[in-house]
Amino acid sequence: MKVAVFSTKSYDRQFFEAINADYGHELTFFEPRLTPETAVLAEGFPCVCVFINDRLSEETLRTIASHGTQYIALRCAGFNNVDLKVAAELGMKVVRVPAYSPYAVAEHAVGLVLMLNRKLYRAYNRVRDDDFSLDGLLGFDLHGCTVGVVGTGKIGQCFAQIMKGFGCYLLAYDIHPNPACVELGVKYVALPELLANSDVVSLHCPLFPETYHMINEQTLQLFKRGAMLINTSRGALIDTHAVIGAIKSGQIGYLGIDVYEEEEELFFEDLSDTVIQDDTFQLLQSYPNVVITAHQAFFTRNALTNIANTTLANIRDLAAGTPCPNEVKAPA
Ligand code: NAD
Repeated sequence: MKVAVFSTKSYDRQFFEAINADYGHELTFFEPRLTPETAVLAEGFPCVCVFINDRLSEETLRTIASHGTQYIALRCAGFNNVDLKVAAELGMKVVRVPAYSPYAVAEHAVGLVLMLNRKLYRAYNRVRDDDFSLDGLLGFDLHGCTVGVVGTGKIGQCFAQIMKGFGCYLLAYDIHPNPACVELGVKYVALPELLANSDVVSLHCPLFPETYHMINEQTLQLFKRGAMLINTSRGALIDTHAVIGAIKSGQIGYLGIDVYEEEEELFFEDLSDTVIQDDTFQLLQSYPNVVITAHQAFFTRNALTNIANTTLANIRDLAAGTPCPNEVKAPA
């Protein structure tokens, strides 16, 4: 199958080309994101392969469909960037990679927790400056803390397992409780109860209309004062302006995020020589108790291998017209 691969970075190309030796698809790599403006590049390709920040809006979908594209192969798990209703109306099939390494994302979330509770980011810079003082680096033990996991699917479950190893008490909220988590000793409670009792809250549920801004001005008031909030899921689960208010008032004591609502214009690019125009992001960056990584939780060689393998197998199924287990459909 001829595939136009959008948002290509050198590492995508490296992993996809190596693994495609077993599949033999015709891959053409494009650096730009797929947006209404770049959709013309897909002309003549029955399949587009896209990532998190490609914008598969109605306009993009109608353009690529009119140029002959029938298949959308997401090389990620989340599909909030695809208008599934319009895709279905246009007869397009959408496939994704539902799991590539839940460990990668869960371990990164734990990394953010450790960065914040022991202030490792400050310690690292201090020692490089030959400043060996400890003032301002006081942390707290994770052992005995209560950790609230919001969304206990594949990643939330791994995260809960790791935190259990630290000796934490585990609370969880999910619309579909996970029996493996119950077995682990996780206690399922309503979201307000979780927020009110957790020292650390970590978000692992998908971005849906129902979960958009689930952490907002009202729900932030329910947190334990000074609690830690971690988000490795999708930026728009958190109302950024509201969380800035909560950091300034001390209601949120630590924020660790790998995702940001307006990340589309920032993440995955080297902007170190640019004046960033997003004042909200710059404000967040300025706080000493905020750690931001640029959507790298998935970025392990294990995950990239699995992403390339599953994506190319999905495209093989689409080309053969056989049912693909990883097809995503619009909710009825
Ligand atoms: P999953 O589908 O296995 O689990 C998601 C869980 O969220 C499910 O248990 C589901 O019941 C629950 N859920 C759904 N709606 C909910 C709601 N309204 N309230 C509470 N819980 C709800 O998904 P996963 O593989 O664990 O991935 C979770 C999310 O992590 C993905 O949706 C994606 O956005 C994000 N992710 C981020 C990265 C990264 O690099 N930062 C990488 C992969 C995935």
